[in-house]
Amino acid sequence: MASYRFATRPSDGDAIAFENGVLRVPDHPVIPFVEGDGTGPDIWRASVRVFDAAIKKAYGDARKVSWMKVYAGEESHAKHGEWLPDETLDAFKEFRVSIKGPLSTPVGGGIRSLNVTLRQVLDLYACIRPVRYFEGVGNPMKEPEKLNVVIFRENTEDVYAGIEWKAGSPEAEEIAQFLRSRFGKDIREHSAIGIKPMSEFGSRRLVRMAIQYALENDRRSLTLVHKGNIMKYTEGAFRDWGYAEASSGFGAQTVTEADLARGGTAARADALIVKDRIADAMFQQLLLRPDEYDVIATPNLNGDYLSDAAAAQVGGLGLAPGGNVGDGVAVFEATHGTAPKYANLDKINPGSVVLSGVMMFEYMGWKEVGALIVRGLERAIKGKRVTYDLARQMPGATEVSTSSFGDEIIKGMSA
Ligand code: NAP
Repeated sequence: MASYRFATRPSDGDAIAFENGVLRVPDHPVIPFVEGDGTGPDIWRASVRVFDAAIKKAYGDARKVSWMKVYAGEESHAKHGEWLPDETLDAFKEFRVSIKGPLSTPVGGGIRSLNVTLRQVLDLYACIRPVRYFEGVGNPMKEPEKLNVVIFRENTEDVYAGIEWKAGSPEAEEIAQFLRSRFGKDIREHSAIGIKPMSEFGSRRLVRMAIQYALENDRRSLTLVHKGNIMKYTEGAFRDWGYAEASSGFGAQTVTEADLARGGTAARADALIVKDRIADAMFQQLLLRPDEYDVIATPNLNGDYLSDAAAAQVGGLGLAPGGNVGDGVAVFEATHGTAPKYANLDKINPGSVVLSGVMMFEYMGWKEVGALIVRGLERAIKGKRVTYDLARQMPGATEVSTSSFGDEIIKGMSA
């Protein structure tokens, strides 16, 4: 058991265990949380009330969560002088399932992203982001309900590996010189250099998790999204490794789009269709033919862009949840960042963290809790008492605060 200098382990509750590849969730688990920077604390206060109310409604006193506050980001640095204390990573490992708010990352210098660090250190190799429409939410599309995708974004490799050097640094100069002299590559003077590593291992395990999810949830297709026409040996290889994983690991349950086009439908009518799209084409496909897409597996950077764009199609980042999932360890968090201009105004939409909680409870097997929260959210939206981001797109809606929207969700669970 890890020891904690800054955090306090709750006096009651047990750690979730992971045995023989299966999560064992006690009735009274300890779940660590990071409030996050910017709007994180406002959102967390509303979200945790929703979570506790749903657990109570679903199970009475039979189940309960002991929330354990752990530190990361600005609060941690201000109070304890450390951006990401080791003990926070220890807590994520010890208790296995956690939830966090957003952490800010400076552009162009300063500390490396804490979010990226913890995904890499804990090997949370899949960032899972479901994007669906909630009836009544204003949005820019004619038929927003046609979009219902789950994006599996590779979470540990690609240009997010953090291997880059500033223009003019001795490292950048040395690497540029090596590439010129050894491989004849033409690199301009005073170039910054970044490296994009993508492995067969990392790509195949991500695709494997996406296919397993698609099969378990009766999804129709899996699309590999890549930019392999230009980055042939990284993104192109991602596509090839993805198809290889589908055929070697799931040959009996999958069929490729190309096979289908050749007429192989009859024997495999219910098989999961595996296809691929080039990333730029995929953005317009999701806008124009959203119902042709379902589960998506993609490298890190594509997945980052695609998930914000998809969220916009159904009304914005306010209802965009996510989970960073590895083997037996998971940290759930919203797709959005700290939205600092709204910090401490009790204004921002808590919906993305609330829905990240739904994903967390489903991951734990507490499906009744997830279902209650979704019902509460749906009714709150139908009641048109919503936060500013939704209100500005919904004619006749009343804008309410973060905390009041939490109340509306709780009320909606009983309606
Ligand atoms: P952002 O925080 O996601 O906010 C961009 C805009 O999205 C906001 O101004 C707001 O739009 C909308 N938005 C975000 N969260 C919302 C919510 N809960 N409800 C309603 N609308 C919401 O992106 P950013 O301003 O580019 O990034 C700020 C910081 O967050 C950066 O330091 C970045 O590195 C960090 N970040 C962290 C994470 C993470 O922790 N995982 C992820 C992404 C970014 P309107 O202005 O239109 O209202």
